Amino acid sequence: MGAGYRMKRVSIFGATGSIGQNTIDLIRRDRAAFDVIALTGGRNIDQLAADAIALGADVAVTAHDDLLDDLRAALSGSGVQAAAGTQALIEAGSRPADWVMSAIVGAAGLRPGLAALEQGATLALANKESLVTAGPLMLQTARRHDARILPVDSEHSAIFQALAGEEADAVSRVIITASGGAFRDWPLEDLARATPEQAATHPNWDMGQRITIDSASMFNKALELIEAREFFGFTPDQIEVVIHPESMIHALVGFCDGGLMAHVGPPDMRHAIGYALYWPKRQALPIDILDLAAIGQFTFRPPDLRRYPALRLAREVMQTRGLLGAVFNGAKERALDHFIAGRIGFCDMCDVVDEVLTRLSARDGLIDAEITLDTVAKADHLARVCADEVAQKRAG
Ligand code: NAD
Ligand code: MG
Repeated sequence: MGAGYRMKRVSIFGATGSIGQNTIDLIRRDRAAFDVIALTGGRNIDQLAADAIALGADVAVTAHDDLLDDLRAALSGSGVQAAAGTQALIEAGSRPADWVMSAIVGAAGLRPGLAALEQGATLALANKESLVTAGPLMLQTARRHDARILPVDSEHSAIFQALAGEEADAVSRVIITASGGAFRDWPLEDLARATPEQAATHPNWDMGQRITIDSASMFNKALELIEAREFFGFTPDQIEVVIHPESMIHALVGFCDGGLMAHVGPPDMRHAIGYALYWPKRQALPIDILDLAAIGQFTFRPPDLRRYPALRLAREVMQTRGLLGAVFNGAKERALDHFIAGRIGFCDMCDVVDEVLTRLSARDGLIDAEITLDTVAKADHLARVCADEVAQKRAG
């Protein structure tokens, strides 16, 4: 190691998932540049242990207490520590690191991400749920601890890149693209009968099961609209969605002089992950070169709100803000659980979330309360309980 050169200390939350594995792929290709501190996962102990050993991590953490013995056994003799449970995840977030990938799926990603910000790390944020449930808390925590959040969602990375060197007040509009998901071309009347297996296939991206189903319903795009509102501070009427079936343009930023900057690339998350990993520098990445002449054309169409009613709900959340984002996300996560379990239909998911938003918006003081870990946890909990009730009623 030369003088003045220091390895970047990195931790990966959700290391066994789709984003986590793509992150590990990049780190393996540039092994000497990184010192791996913590890797976390869920039930896939074999993968977690194998990666922790191969990367020489200090600690591997499973979210599940009951799997601690299995993890210990898988790591035995390797020198990698084993830990388990929610508290251990948060502690892993507090281990000194320069760069932390937040790629747990769902609201469970919030607390480890905050712990990483509190120690001043750069947080590469794939876990959009953190910004949807607690955007102001995330940004305030980053400011207070001189930490930085870098977006990893492909659309938000695209916006971030298009904004580099620009004045914020020169931006007039932002256009986020959507593939349209598995049911883009299905007859509307067939949607109610769509199965979880059908919803869990994506035309262009290879992602975790939950985000793939959320792409079919566009709950994923709904989360991304809210994420863009919270992270960049755009007003709701500045943020648009357009269906772009090729998934090559990830977002466009429009400026007051009429210019529109588009970010173009193949649907490979390693670009956005790598951009955040090496930021502010750019580094060569294993991304396919696009042959535009072979692709021939990029197409666009407006999203049909009858097919994607989640987009309408996102508008409501972007306008109201406060704890409505936590309610929206909690209700969405439970509705998705019920759909995956076969208890409600595909179209019921949006109806369940809509009803939860209506019911909980009417509760005195709930939505307007200050956004803290406690109020977010309470709103999230109430939303899940309420979503269970509403889903039960529909199923029964
Ligand atoms: P995934 O399901 O493939 O992986 C999720 C990871 O989180 C796994 O490591 C799993 O073990 C862990 N996990 C799940 N539940 C947990 C819990 N309760 N506590 C702790 N750990 C838990 O998901 P993914 O597709 O990699 O997505 C991860 C995040 O990145 C999500 O927020 C998603 O919206 C976002 N994202 C993903 C993509 C993508 O291409 N996959 C793109 C943009 C944004
Ligand atoms: Mg995205």
